[in-house]
Amino acid sequence: MSSPALNTLNTVFGYSEFRPGQQQVIEAVMKGQDCLTIMPTGSGKSLCYQIPAISLAGYAIVVSPLIALMQDQVAQLEAQGVAAAFLNSTLDYQQQDDILSQVNHHQIKILYVAPEKLMQPAFLDRLAQFPPNLVAIDEAHCISQWGHDFRPDYAQLGLLKQYFPRSPFIALTATADSATQQDIIQLLKLVNPHHYVGSFDRPNIRYIQQEKFRPLNQVEAIVKSKNNQAGIIYCTSRKRVEEVTDYLQRHNFAAAAYHAGLSLEQRETAQTAWLKDDVQIMVATVAFGMGINKPDVRFVVHYDIPRSIENFYQETGRAGRDGLDSEAILLYEYADADRVRWLIEQNQNLERAQIENHKFDSMLSLAHSETCRRMVLLNYFGEGRNQGCGNCDICIDPPKKYDGLVDAQKVMSTIYRIGQNAGFNYVIEVLRGANTQRVRELGHNALSVYGIGKSKSHEYWISIARQLVHLGLLRIDITDNAHLKLTELARPYLRGDMPLELAQPRINQSQEIAKGQK
Ligand code: ADP
Ligand code: ZN
Repeated sequence: MSSPALNTLNTVFGYSEFRPGQQQVIEAVMKGQDCLTIMPTGSGKSLCYQIPAISLAGYAIVVSPLIALMQDQVAQLEAQGVAAAFLNSTLDYQQQDDILSQVNHHQIKILYVAPEKLMQPAFLDRLAQFPPNLVAIDEAHCISQWGHDFRPDYAQLGLLKQYFPRSPFIALTATADSATQQDIIQLLKLVNPHHYVGSFDRPNIRYIQQEKFRPLNQVEAIVKSKNNQAGIIYCTSRKRVEEVTDYLQRHNFAAAAYHAGLSLEQRETAQTAWLKDDVQIMVATVAFGMGINKPDVRFVVHYDIPRSIENFYQETGRAGRDGLDSEAILLYEYADADRVRWLIEQNQNLERAQIENHKFDSMLSLAHSETCRRMVLLNYFGEGRNQGCGNCDICIDPPKKYDGLVDAQKVMSTIYRIGQNAGFNYVIEVLRGANTQRVRELGHNALSVYGIGKSKSHEYWISIARQLVHLGLLRIDITDNAHLKLTELARPYLRGDMPLELAQPRINQSQEIAKGQK
């Protein structure tokens, strides 16, 4: 290993050894080779360009999509004694000009630039007079339509090679399936790149899935069990973020909200408070997290199912960067999948919708998996695995099948007796013999099925009823208030002519706690 690089690792960053992949990528960059570097979040991508930038003469350009991320990186580098600066829309002309002249006078080693700023022709012409020793493109998947986070700003970056034909390029990302990787190479015109794909396994993250039934209570139970440790709760909509934040705050948890509907100032306040541990929980949309470097995030909850495994992986990957045990918890219900599908179908761009449907199929196969979740996840990124991990809900507590005919008949005959006129919750209320006003008014407490499911919890029955939907014996009639209807397929089971195997409902501890609080 070229000792200047190791020396920089020791003296500037204070680390004694390289992490997997860093050394070979740094060597390739120092030799002047283009690189495509795929490494999971938290594995140390930044050093792959920062060390060459510091060790080589001249300066490096780093293209980065987020202003907050740039400021953060620059502040960290400066704290370590590295001359760094950023250029983006928050600076006025004079400030930008000052920075450029510092670069020209060798006073800056690492210059972070937003893509839309960098690609201004006048700006590029100026930089081409003192070209960088290295061009690093962070979050490089944003250039690809196949990536899960395409950014039009990034599409322009394809022109960069023309301006800096002699500078090596390094493209880095934590998230790219193989189609996206090929796309990045082509679009950036990387020449014979050194192609490194690191392991995506995050063994210290335990993947857990809970059936979603009373999500606010479930979240509360999870947060409570974490004893003030830092966590993130991802929701798909701003409204949901507000709702969950309100709920947690009302129950005396220190939670903050983060989504694109808030002002920059509100977002920054929330982020800083969370980074400093003044608030325990960040409730956020996917707008939150890129470039956030908080090592001790102990849990990430997905309140709603993400749209792709890339999203799931990236968001859960914010947990446990310090290598200590952490949890990624997905709350999943079948109806959420229908909602995502519907949203995808709204896309006017058919090709795009097709890509998204395909990505969501993969995510669903992870959610519906009856084998090790980590295996599904890693195989998706092309990292062949054929052994269970021992650290996911499936490995820890494998799904058990049982003879579910009688349970199914209880649910289906309740639906039949009440005239196929209600949704999950009411059906289960009757089944469990709830003494509510609606039950009394409709006279359902006189039915033979009233209370025949009393010995099992609400969640237990929800799980059974959902399985019957998955199996096609019940359908949720969206044209009739999402009421449950029996299908033709249900008949032989109602008559008891056919055996029926169901999965034993997985009611775990935090769900039991949540149930006690309802
Ligand atoms: P990524 O960009 O891949 O998500 P970062 O570059 O932000 O990850 O690195 C994550 C953390 O790991 C940072 O705190 C970084 O300082 C630390 N790190 C990187 N390389 C090493 C190393 N060789 N030894 C110890 N810590 C490292
Ligand atoms: Zn497993």
